[in-house]
This record gives sequence, C-alpha cells and structure tokens, in this order.
Amino acid sequence: MANPVLPQEIEVTVPTAEENLAEVGDTKRVYLTFDDGPSGNTEEILKVLDDYGVKATFFVIGRPDEVSRERMRRIVEDGHTIAMHSYTHSYTGIYSSLDSFKSDVESVKNVIKDATGVDTLIYRFPGGSSNGIAQGKISQFITYLNDNDIMYMDWNVSSGDAVSPSLSVDAIVENVMKDVVKYKSSVVLMHDSDSKATTVEALPLLIERLRAEGCILLPISKDTTRIQHVTL
Ligand code: ZN
Repeated sequence: MANPVLPQEIEVTVPTAEENLAEVGDTKRVYLTFDDGPSGNTEEILKVLDDYGVKATFFVIGRPDEVSRERMRRIVEDGHTIAMHSYTHSYTGIYSSLDSFKSDVESVKNVIKDATGVDTLIYRFPGGSSNGIAQGKISQFITYLNDNDIMYMDWNVSSGDAVSPSLSVDAIVENVMKDVVKYKSSVVLMHDSDSKATTVEALPLLIERLRAEGCILLPISKDTTRIQHVTL
C-alpha cells in the first residue's frame, strides 16, 4: 500500500463511541492534549514534543503574567494548537450563570490573543462538558459556544494523571495505550501542571509506543473529529 493518506476531517457531526471504533486497517489518529497550563512543566513538555517532531494541543487557562505569556508564545511558535480551558478554572464561578460563563470565555480568549496573536475558537470545559457542576446549564453554555463558532472538545482517552500527582510512568502509558487501540480518533487527556512530573516523564515512552502501534499524532484543529461528552 502507498503512504497512508490522512482522512479529510471535514465532518462536523459528532461520531458516537461506536462509530468511532477502529476497524482493521484503520490509521488511528491520536491527539495529545495538555490541560491547565502554562506551568513550570510547559517547556519540558515542548522539548519532548520537539525531540519527537510531534504537534499537540494545549488547553490553557488565564495566566496573564509575563512568564506564562512567554510559555504561551513558545507553544504557538513550536507549531502546537493553543486553545481555551477557561480563565479561572473555578467550576463554581464559571458555571454559576451564563453571564459568568461568557465573561470567563472572553477573558481567556483575550489573554491568549494578547500573548500570542492567536484568536482561538477551540475550547475545553473544565471537567469536560459532562461535569457535574454545570449540569442543568450546560445546554446554555454549549449554545453560546456554538453561536460564537467556538468548538468544544472533550476527550475519550484519559491518561489518569488527574487522579494522583504521582501516578507512575507505566500507569500513565498503559492507561492511554489500552484505550487508543479501540478508536479511529483518540483525544487523550493529560495535564501541563507543576504537580504532574510523571506526565512529562511518561511522554517519550508514550510517543514511542503510540508510533509503534501505527498511530498518527496530530494537533487539534476546527476540522478534527469532535469528541464531545454532551451534545445538544
Ligand atoms: Zn482542567
């Protein structure tokens, strides 16, 4: 067979978990995502990604200090996707009302724009669209994002690094590998956070294992198959 051609990802319909199940011969697409940065680990994550020539996605929060702004610029300069993950990351604040939600989205959008020049239209809800705090209001928030052409992206594979700050490298790698084999398109939840040292340590082995499995590693764009826990 000739070089595998990347499927054109122009479908905006959200596949069900079943439709996203990989079949024999499928080229699996894997989107590594890092939430909660920038952090003291951002540069190390960027270095590993650069060493392997991998582009990923960083869902950042509203850190307007100059060190964080510089890290955001590095993310963009290195060719990764920078996207929104709320300004405050405070579930109770953000999800208290539609107005709070809107002003939080606008704030993080502006911080990213101001630091990097990127006008991002990609968002990840803190806790995902299925989080318990936003229940009952999530449809208003989704409508707001849809009306503003902002795509929200959840995940279907979790590294598990949110559970414990010291989850072992092997556990992180296995958590990802046991699920990516199932799907055509995998969005992998990881964290760019000062307390998540083993996430950084796991990254080289994880990338090697994913490539050995034949996966293509890609940054998220507006055309990426949407993985969403809750849809309208
Ligand atoms: Zn988060």
